[in-house]
Amino acid sequence: MYAQLQTLEHAIFAGFTHLGAVDLAEKIISILPSKQRKVFYSDNGSTAVEVALKMSLQFWNNQNQKRLKILAFENAYHGDTFGAMAVSGRSAFTAPFDALLFDVIFIPTPNVNNIEDIKSHITHHKSDIACFIFEPLVQGASGMLMYEALYLDELIAHCHNQNILTIADEVMTGFGRTGKLFATDYLKHKPDMMCFSKGITGGTMPLGLTTCSQPIYDAFLSNDKLKTLFHGHSFTANPVACAAALASFDLLMQPQTMQHISRITAQHHAFKLKIQQHPKLKNVRQTGTILAIEWQNNTDTSYFSDLRTQLYNFFISKNIILRPLGNIIYILPPYCISESDLAYIYQQIEEALEIF
Ligand SMILES: *Cc1c(COP(=O)(O)O)cnc(C)c1O
Repeated sequence: MYAQLQTLEHAIFAGFTHLGAVDLAEKIISILPSKQRKVFYSDNGSTAVEVALKMSLQFWNNQNQKRLKILAFENAYHGDTFGAMAVSGRSAFTAPFDALLFDVIFIPTPNVNNIEDIKSHITHHKSDIACFIFEPLVQGASGMLMYEALYLDELIAHCHNQNILTIADEVMTGFGRTGKLFATDYLKHKPDMMCFSKGITGGTMPLGLTTCSQPIYDAFLSNDKLKTLFHGHSFTANPVACAAALASFDLLMQPQTMQHISRITAQHHAFKLKIQQHPKLKNVRQTGTILAIEWQNNTDTSYFSDLRTQLYNFFISKNIILRPLGNIIYILPPYCISESDLAYIYQQIEEALEIF
């Protein structure tokens, strides 16, 4: 980043490019599922989602097809800008804006019991649906809700059969979080578009990426200027952010990083086995380096509950930031966390279980 600041701190990305952006795009594409061919830069997760939504809506518009509906999961979280809010589940956070959020077809996350119903619901609306956006395997902000890859795979395949584009929002799950480089690496059927932000620059600089397949890119390639995706931000593909992402990419690709991820996964698993029968706990769940612990809570399970505040204050007093989502606490550690620091967190959770 220091070296980058001495050569090019920023350049408008409209009409220009630079080495860092090209390098980073090529490197990211090299580790993504092979369907991903092109990279669109922005500067955070919400904008990465906005770009994917606009890409899919305009994909159909450019072909004179009227498809204005978007399919999303109940309880989804895709960001805080308007489009991202619209495809997120309705909640206390969206309530003041609900009347202004566009119509979305919400479906439950799939399981063995509901998959056929969901598929026929999609088939029924297929000619109106532009795309299906989802957080693969783990719904983050709504409480680290986890669901099976098997049925997501089936749903993606079904969408593709019905000519519906698919968007994997990997803003939270990307770059090793779920135990593989990407949550979509657990799937046989790959999405048409992917969104990234958290984790790209190792927590140093803001950056967002939306990637897409060749057919999506091709739908915008035209001498007709009206087919352009007119979207850009002040800091699109900021060179310093790209430099940070390139450095972080090299760290991610070192074998030690995957060893850390496996070690954290194993530590989480052992702790899960140790506490999951605790009478105060409703559920303990894990996907890779994400561990979520749900307290029994007979009164108020909302984000604003008393338990939440008590737990938050307890952990802060122990020098740990564990922001509970209502009665759910979750550990989402940086991969450089030591075995003993992680053990300290577990120990404090056990202490909290004695108190609350
Ligand atoms: C955090 C998050 C976003 C929004 O990203 P911001 O950078 O906070 O705008 C979108 N999708 C998912 C899955 C996220 O976890």
